[in-house]
Amino acid sequence: MTEQLIQAAKEARTHAYVPYSHFQVGAVVRVGDAVYAGANIENASFGLSMCAERNAIFAAVMAGHQQLDEITVIGDTAGPISPCGACRQVMAEFMAPNAPVTLANLHGTTQVTTVGELLPGAFTKGDLNQ
Ligand SMILES: [Zn+2]
Repeated sequence: MTEQLIQAAKEARTHAYVPYSHFQVGAVVRVGDAVYAGANIENASFGLSMCAERNAIFAAVMAGHQQLDEITVIGDTAGPISPCGACRQVMAEFMAPNAPVTLANLHGTTQVTTVGELLPGAFTKGDLNQ
């Protein structure tokens, strides 16, 4: 399954809109047998750009899922791609701390970690109910 998801993330990456950075990223979220893809989309107003991970997560949420099983991310980086802090926080909103996160690059390097390892001490909905 991991290799299939990496290939799906690689395909999603081809849909990136990156006229400014030229840095394509692809991501896929798996929920059961369903897979939701995302790529990074930039804007001339740079702050409005959106990461591949969040686009994939939001696509899954828009399809009615609020508990996602795993996410796979790929980019043209030297080592496994590293999700930004904002994406780690969004993962923590919709994924369990032990949910797998597969980080890959185009050279075949893969690291499997978890949401909790990427963002220990995440601010969660539980923090709002004190
Ligand atoms: Zn991000």
